Order: sequence, then C-alpha cells, then structure tokens
Amino acid sequence: MANARSSRRAPWFKVRKSSVHGMGAFALRRIRKGTRIVEYLGERVSHEEADRRYEIKNENDSHTFLFVVDSKTVIDGGTAGNEARFINHSCDPNCESVIESKRVFIEAVRTIQPGEELSYDYQLGRDDDDPPNVDQIYACRCGHASCRGTMLWPPKRPQRAARPRKPARKTAAAKREAAAKRSTRRAHLKASRR
Ligand SMILES: [Zn+2]
Repeated sequence: MANARSSRRAPWFKVRKSSVHGMGAFALRRIRKGTRIVEYLGERVSHEEADRRYEIKNENDSHTFLFVVDSKTVIDGGTAGNEARFINHSCDPNCESVIESKRVFIEAVRTIQPGEELSYDYQLGRDDDDPPNVDQIYACRCGHASCRGTMLWPPKRPQRAARPRKPARKTAAAKREAAAKRSTRRAHLKASRR
C-alpha cells in the first residue's frame, strides 16, 4: 500500500524499541516543522468491523492500531498497515495527525532533530462504559513535565454533577461522530469486553 514515490525517498525515521512504549519511530535526520512525514495506512473498515476484530484482544493490552477517520470509517493499522502505527503517544508531542480527504497524515509541529522519537497526542476518546481503570490501562509514560498520565482525552472523566445539563441519549452513530471529532486514535476497550 506504500506509494512508490515515498518509498524511493530516503526515510525520515526508523522503527526500533522505545523506552516509552513497545516500539517507537525515531528521526533519522532533521525534520523541519510542517513536514508531512508519513501517511497512516491500514485497512479501512467500519467501526463495527473494528469492534469485531479486536473483540478477542486482552483488555489490559493498551496497544491500539485503530485510527478514526470519521463516523463511518476506521483505519486498522494492524492489517496492511505501515510503520506509522509505531509512532507513540506523547503529552508534549513533536507531531500531529491531520485528516485530509479521509486520509490521515502525521506532520511535524516543530523541527525534530535526528534520534528524537516521533510522537503525537492520541487523544483517545472516553466512553460512559469505560472500565474504572481505563486511565491505568492507557497510562502515559512519556515522561514530559506536562504529562497528564493518560493517553485519553479529556484528561479526567468529567464529573457528572458539574455538567450543566444532561445531554439527550445519543445513538451509537452520534456517539461515534462525537468521538471522531474529539479523538484521533481509538481505544478498543469497549470491544474487548464480552
Ligand atoms: Zn504523557
């Protein structure tokens, strides 16, 4: 699925073991702010199909390869994906994800030096039926001073009492639409509980 033009170019980064989480992507050369580094590739599936695929995953496994494109489509980096899936989360990231024409790209938000680990904020969406230990499961170990301790967004589950009004019960589609607006990567937790 990698396009020929990008594979002919010298790579911006290589994948190796990371102290943050599993494998990580590390800059091989200086990457200027604004550079479009890589497209997040993988099989494009429905949210329902993504749920089905990750149903059997261990619910304490915080690896997630799902990327929300919109309320209809999820990119599964675990199938036909590329090395973009190894870019880790950080609370003080040097990259961001950009959705353009239903494709996802990772771009540098500041100039990155050779050897630096690439990262972006996953901003995993919260759901009412997340398990109570969801922040531990998706704990962030980025080590930055501004680390919020979790890959989820917002940083804390909102206090029910503090809500000005109770929103109308959302349909599954509306919930996904809202999630797609606030999140980039998607947790598979809900799907993992039988
Ligand atoms: Zn962090």
